[in-house]
Amino acid sequence: MSAQEKVHNRKVGIIGMARSGLAAAKLVLQSGGMPFVSDNGSREALATSLAQLEELGIAYECGGHTDRLLESDFCILSPGVPQTIPMVQKIKEKGIPIFSEIELASWFCRGKILAVTGSNGKTTTTTLAGEMLKEGGIPVEVCGNIGYPFSDAAPKVPENGFAVVEASSFQLELIESFKPHIAMILNLTPDHLDRYLDFEDYKAAKYRIADNMSVTDHLILNAGDPETDISKIKTDATLDYFAAHRPLPAGVFKRGESLVGSVGGKEFKIIDIAGIRIPGPHNLQNSAAAALAAILAGVSPEKIAAVLEKFPGVEHRLEDVGTVAGIKFINDSKATNVDSVCYALLSMKTPVVLIAGGRDKGGAYDPLIEKGRGKIKEIILIGEAREKIFRALGKTFAVEFAESMEAAVQKAFTAASPGDTVLLSPACSSFDMFDNYEHRGKTFKEIVARMRSSERPRDTRMQGVD
Ligand code: ADP
Repeated sequence: MSAQEKVHNRKVGIIGMARSGLAAAKLVLQSGGMPFVSDNGSREALATSLAQLEELGIAYECGGHTDRLLESDFCILSPGVPQTIPMVQKIKEKGIPIFSEIELASWFCRGKILAVTGSNGKTTTTTLAGEMLKEGGIPVEVCGNIGYPFSDAAPKVPENGFAVVEASSFQLELIESFKPHIAMILNLTPDHLDRYLDFEDYKAAKYRIADNMSVTDHLILNAGDPETDISKIKTDATLDYFAAHRPLPAGVFKRGESLVGSVGGKEFKIIDIAGIRIPGPHNLQNSAAAALAAILAGVSPEKIAAVLEKFPGVEHRLEDVGTVAGIKFINDSKATNVDSVCYALLSMKTPVVLIAGGRDKGGAYDPLIEKGRGKIKEIILIGEAREKIFRALGKTFAVEFAESMEAAVQKAFTAASPGDTVLLSPACSSFDMFDNYEHRGKTFKEIVARMRSSERPRDTRMQGVD
């Protein structure tokens, strides 16, 4: 059945009115279907989305989900809405198919799909792989969980092109026929334990990326990740590996001081590792994974090297935001789990004053003890998770609490000496104090920018804060 046939004249219930829900509704409408969008948020909170729906003449309800959803031929669940809500249970009990937004979008994508999942590094690797394909002259749409829904992008991908899709576990849980030609699982570390039964359950959702792949498709795995358990991945895909720490018989890997490829029996150097612009051992993994995907998509090693030399990284990921009085400030607001903070610490070459905290996601903070020892000078804690983090780390490190980002930055500045780094790498989500991690990162950057523009002698600037 064609995508149009699957949707034409069908009643499609869409749960969740954020970016991907709206994009799904538009795609359904364009394809002759009848979307109905439902959200439990208030009219005031959803004002912007509602204005768009009204302009397009799309039916909706807000303030809760009613049984009207049960009249749907099938439903689309937005990634922000957990499957555990009662309405999703009702929909399932009634036997109404329920899909994720990337499943719907994939029906409309005429080109191939390159999908990226993992606990950390998805956005960086998705963006990087997209740049490499572009450099290789392949038409691409870089989309998914990256702020540009696959449903908006899918109809624009030509037959000879690629959709490079960042895919979260929430989206992968509800796929049916989503079939990447190339997919990667970058790494698996505990995250989102607030939405999964346990780590195994979360991993199982990620493994679904390969469910529909066939032998001519390529599943890229991290040879250095102990948590990726191939015996649990049910797929016909050909397996390809990358490694950022040692040579491999095939794939893309580190050998000596170079990133090397060995694909289809041919071996070639891609780039000297020192020539890769994005810093840190985790970014070497991301670079290797993206390079392998690009090679499999037909891009030459020279073009891949050209991208690795110039790619500056993505905002809010170990972003250098400048120096004040000899103290460097790094915005890593996207570090919303403990593993990404461990990598941030590994990437630091100076003593660090760490700003962390926010809304707890259910994981343990202890791994920071080992990674932070000898490197962390002091930790400034913000947000709801302060007490929990303090219990885990307070015996090892000097810790202060702060009520706001402003106060945290000032305290960190006081604790740091010239040559040190103040690192915002929270290990938590941002929703207790901010709209999202971008808002948290922007707030941090604005404070640093103000400090930079009014640099004053160190002994006077702290007065009157908190
Ligand atoms: P995601 O989209 O999976 O959240 P990002 O590329 O946005 O990944 O990076 C999120 C955070 O994780 C940042 O703090 C970044 O520095 C860190 N990070 C990036 N790549 C990796 C990796 N391969 N392993 C661990 N941490 C990583």
